[in-house]
Amino acid sequence: MAYTNNVLTRARMRLREDNERKRAEYEDHLAKAYALRPRLREIDRALRGSAAQAAALIFQHEGDTDAELARLREENQKLQNERQWILDEAELPDGYLDDSPVCSLCGGTGYVGSQMCECLRELCRQEQKRELASLLPTGRERFENFSMELYPERFYPELGTSARTLMQKNLNYCKKYAAEFQPGGRSLLFSGATGLGKTFLSACIARQVSENGHSVVYATAGKLFAHYEAVKFERAEPESLRDYRDCELLIIDDLGTEMTTQFVTAALYEIVNARLLERKATVISTNLNEQDLEARYGGQIASRLLGSYRVLYFLGDDIRRLRKIRQNEERSARI
Ligand SMILES: [Zn+2]
Repeated sequence: MAYTNNVLTRARMRLREDNERKRAEYEDHLAKAYALRPRLREIDRALRGSAAQAAALIFQHEGDTDAELARLREENQKLQNERQWILDEAELPDGYLDDSPVCSLCGGTGYVGSQMCECLRELCRQEQKRELASLLPTGRERFENFSMELYPERFYPELGTSARTLMQKNLNYCKKYAAEFQPGGRSLLFSGATGLGKTFLSACIARQVSENGHSVVYATAGKLFAHYEAVKFERAEPESLRDYRDCELLIIDDLGTEMTTQFVTAALYEIVNARLLERKATVISTNLNEQDLEARYGGQIASRLLGSYRVLYFLGDDIRRLRKIRQNEERSARI
């Protein structure tokens, strides 16, 4: 399991809030119980006093320590009994004055030794899910929702295949890629015209890989470069860019739709290069072909993308256009 810095920060914050909430609730209950039965406050004070005395005795090792400890223990027990009796008599609910931590495994710290505790892990899972849900375009991005029907079966002799056969292969490949994803896996480049399902498939991969417990960051190229620019102009912390570099899978959607400037080219080179060097997988979708990529971002980036990424071509008539035509047909059929 791996989580991005963002996810981990938010999960830790929630754990801290849970701890504070529990603490505040305990203090509130305690104040109410003391107001209801003032004797409880005296008992608690006496219990704290006898605990301190016992600690001091053990530390000093002087005189008849054992007898004194036994006396303290007996006194302590009497106080405990009286306390319980008062609580029962006041008809306070069970556990009303329970001040145990939010998690008994880690004491609310989120870690057992150097290992992340299950309580913090669960919060990370929830935060990762929430983050991806907010980033992914429609919320429907699952492989089983990918429709083949919109890809024409017509055979293109110059390609030796049909758009549907090619898309079926792409779909199978992406499913396998997502199911078997391991850190350090291959990077992919989806190339094809707008509206051919590149965004949908890359979002399906993001969802599946994340559900399998890997850290995934999904961003459109526009948003990604805007973020880099915000850091350049000191509107965001440089630290906030760390996840693009550290996550196990980075998905950059719609490369080529952003305003490409020198700054954007440099940022793209930095991301692509750093991730290749660190053997971190990246999935990039673009409406640009090989020549466009080179013309827009230069030979260095194009050769890295085309040389080190596995390229998947997306072909077919424009799906959005097809959908519109179908909707129009259905509408006119109803009239
Ligand atoms: Zn815990």
